[in-house]
Amino acid sequence: MKKYNFNAGPSVLPKETVENTIKAIENFSGTGLGLMEISHRSKEFQAVVDEAVALVKELLNVPEGYSVLFLGGGASLEFCMVPYNLLEKKAAYLNTGTWANKALKEAKLFGEVVEVASSKEANYTYIPKNYAIPADADYFHITTNNTIFGTEIHEDIDSPVTLVADMSSDIFSRPVDVSKYGLIYGGAQKNLAPAGVTFVIVKDDILGKVSRPIPTMLDYRTHIKDGSMFNTPPVVPIYAALQTLKWLKALGGVKEMYKRNKEKAGLLYSEIDRNKLFKGTAAVEDRSLMNICFVMNDEYKDLESDFYKLATERGMVGIKGHRSVGGFRASTYNALSKEAVEVLIACMKEFESLHSKH
Ligand SMILES: *Cc1c(COP(=O)(O)O)cnc(C)c1O
Repeated sequence: MKKYNFNAGPSVLPKETVENTIKAIENFSGTGLGLMEISHRSKEFQAVVDEAVALVKELLNVPEGYSVLFLGGGASLEFCMVPYNLLEKKAAYLNTGTWANKALKEAKLFGEVVEVASSKEANYTYIPKNYAIPADADYFHITTNNTIFGTEIHEDIDSPVTLVADMSSDIFSRPVDVSKYGLIYGGAQKNLAPAGVTFVIVKDDILGKVSRPIPTMLDYRTHIKDGSMFNTPPVVPIYAALQTLKWLKALGGVKEMYKRNKEKAGLLYSEIDRNKLFKGTAAVEDRSLMNICFVMNDEYKDLESDFYKLATERGMVGIKGHRSVGGFRASTYNALSKEAVEVLIACMKEFESLHSKH
């Protein structure tokens, strides 16, 4: 049976990414050697890294003065690298969920951390607004898409201090004004590549300003200087990332993706709002285009496992909500087809006709 992959991460990738990577694992770039068996210092692999960096810059319109890095350690290591490299005295964080909290916790190891606002009291169902960013903070950290709670900051904000963003789960889903950010990072396994590689887009001149010594591997300047080749980079995930970037470009880039993502998410949110059995959990204006969270309406609560069962029978995978929200979460990343969303909607309608009490 055909499967529809709504997993939150690792998650669905373009068919081209998977197929091209399989081919390269067998015979990389005509070398007669497999991608897992080549030197990362070979000219063929250097060409892969160069093209991936160039495509990130092109697709996101990255201005001069920024570096694009492919590192290991996941977004979780960035939670530590960011304050290690940038926090001299004080940092400001916006607390919008589980990942934001994890980032904040690491920063506290390096200096004073101001939590400018939090939506914790409402189980992170909205994005706080009208907060004040301290002008004397070394940087301000946001999580643009809250993968677990299904909320998203839809516009690039203006920050009086260096803006740092965890974009793990919405990178390449919409156009971004990179010039407003000092540093953007994320694990690749949501919208770009298999797990194992982290992307970082960093403005070079924000670095080198803290007085503490930084271990070589945790210093962004090491990786800028060596073009992400200080040590052996995650070769296979970087190759796969390049395939996704090429796919993105061929489809029309992030503008086209944004259009498609709005369409897919719009269809599903409309059904959630229309269907008597379900309701959304996130504040309407902050609803994520990437992770769509919904639960059963109170009078139908006992039907949750039945819906899960029906959806599974219809080929849907990964729609169980995170344990901190419950209910369901459909992750509608770039590579998820509109067809998958339509199949989920049909399943919700079918379930309503079976169970609606009115
Ligand atoms: C998945 C995720 C992370 C964690 O990424 P790792 O690469 O597993 O460390 C961090 N932030 C956000 C927003 C995520 O969605």
